[in-house]
Amino acid sequence: MTTRDQALERLRSDEFDVLVVGGGITGAGVALDATVRGLRAGLVERDDYASGTSSRSSKLVHGGLRYLQHLELGLVREALAERGVLQRIVPFLVWPTPFIVPRYGKRRQLAIRAGLDAYDVLAIGSGFPRHRRLDPGDVHRLAPALRPDSGGGLQYWDARTDDARLTWTIARTAMEHGAAMANHTEVVGLLRSGPEIRGRGPSGRVAGAHVVDTISGESFDVRARVVVNASGVWADAVMRMGGPDATPGIRPSKGIHIVFPASRVPLSAALTIPAPDGRYIFCIPYADAEGHVLVGTTDEDYAGPVDAPRAHPDEIAFLIDTLNRVLDDPVSQDDMLASYAGLRPLIQNPGQPSKDLSRRHKVIVSDDGLVTITGGKLTTYRRMARDAVDAALDAGRFGRFPRSRSSQTHLAGGQPAPGLVEALAARAAEAGIDPMGVPRLYHRYGSRAADVVDLVVRNPSLGEPLHPALPYLRAEAAYAVSDESAERPDDVLSRRLRLRVTSADRGVAALDWIVDLLARHRGWDPARRDRERQAYSHDVAADAAAERDG
Ligand SMILES: Cc1cc2nc3c(=O)[nH]c(=O)nc-3n(C[C@H](O)[C@H](O)[C@H](O)COP(=O)(O)OP(=O)(O)OC[C@H]3O[C@@H](n4cnc5c(N)ncnc54)[C@H](O)[C@@H]3O)c2cc1C
Repeated sequence: MTTRDQALERLRSDEFDVLVVGGGITGAGVALDATVRGLRAGLVERDDYASGTSSRSSKLVHGGLRYLQHLELGLVREALAERGVLQRIVPFLVWPTPFIVPRYGKRRQLAIRAGLDAYDVLAIGSGFPRHRRLDPGDVHRLAPALRPDSGGGLQYWDARTDDARLTWTIARTAMEHGAAMANHTEVVGLLRSGPEIRGRGPSGRVAGAHVVDTISGESFDVRARVVVNASGVWADAVMRMGGPDATPGIRPSKGIHIVFPASRVPLSAALTIPAPDGRYIFCIPYADAEGHVLVGTTDEDYAGPVDAPRAHPDEIAFLIDTLNRVLDDPVSQDDMLASYAGLRPLIQNPGQPSKDLSRRHKVIVSDDGLVTITGGKLTTYRRMARDAVDAALDAGRFGRFPRSRSSQTHLAGGQPAPGLVEALAARAAEAGIDPMGVPRLYHRYGSRAADVVDLVVRNPSLGEPLHPALPYLRAEAAYAVSDESAERPDDVLSRRLRLRVTSADRGVAALDWIVDLLARHRGWDPARRDRERQAYSHDVAADAAAERDG
């Protein structure tokens, strides 16, 4: 029986204090916060953990220099404090990174310096260095991709992460604390404590959800004292399940990213580049050991279908044009490996352009007791979760309950362990794993990297590369299936590992091996194997077609 099967059994039979709808970073955070406080928590996710916006961000754990332009000092201070908390509770996934702002004319430079002065003040005590001036030699050394005549610049520090791995790590920690969580399980309706009243619809408070296991097709009810709606850009749809009168609150804003091989844009620091629309775009070494750079993002109101946003040629051209303003050797769409698009679940504020909307979060408690948490950022997920659980405790009239302890709760693999990397290197050497790969394993799994290495010790063929162009091991895919709730090829290729956006074939060279692996573990018949293979191939072909034709 897999962890998911066990969770489904509990979701069917137990009664929960809190049921969370949505397994993005916010929902995973709510499940963890609630469980650590001693509440019985369940979570259902219609697709995979982080399959929504939480795998499609710029992957920064940051204060957000740009929010200083809107004088959102409180938000920036809060996010910078969270950057410090995350560095403590999940150190292996928060990677401090220097950012360079090349020189762009005197007036803009003065404004950027003033912003960085404020950023330093708001970050006091965070342990990150203050910003400093760079001379042209420093800039060229850290960012050889820039034009040689770029001159000096400024350097400040922020942190990168892998958003999907961070989300999964929070979800896993919640499971290890006792939450019952299942991916590929969709909420299709809300349960009520009162009867259906003819002509007036359902009555009473929300008391759980009707769900469908989208893998088996089976449907069942999950009972809970409070339901927390953490479904991101789908939050309005879930609120409307409570009744057609629910006030819509979400205004999706689309942002895309494009990925290049690091050889085309050589950098050892990230770049912050002013864009023609007054914002900044980032050019970020994606994860050094994997040899890619990520360029993004755009910020536009979005009215299309929210299920599968994709990058279009005009958006890609905007990013490439902005980047080429500073590069010595301009890039084109032909150099690009892949793209992805995400939707920010921003809170409505009529009349304001999407790029000016606040990134603050909001908790809404409906008359029927449904708690909805939305807005916010990846970086501030922990505070969002804390506020949502506080509201759930009120809504469910739970009486006295402990305060949130999430700032003290280490995430899975993140407990301090002196000598961990050295011990991992020794074990990897026994397994015949290239020592250069050890830091990469540590930065994905923390102390749990030892479990991945052990798979290779037991079965040396799992030490082979999973894909000819990337350093991932077959053991990592095997671990995703055996220990990380990956149920479908896309769960492995897009989120537990990131082959879909870091290889020119979008991971297709590894698809057959992964389908075979899943088929063995989950007992798939030949028809299911074909369906899964085709579903993934069609999906990535649709990404490529959208990039080309819009
Ligand atoms: C382009 C872009 C760049 C960004 N960059 C950054 C950044 O660098 N740093 C930062 O801090 N923030 C960043 N953000 C913001 C951040 O990514 C989001 O705020 C965050 O990921 C939202 O997480 P969420 O859990 O609220 O939503 P989601 O991740 O979308 O999760 C909601 C989940 O609910 C599930 N769901 C929906 N309906 C149902 C249902 N009926 N039943 C069950 N499950 C359901 C969905 O499948 C989905 O997985 C960025 C956002 C974008 C779009």
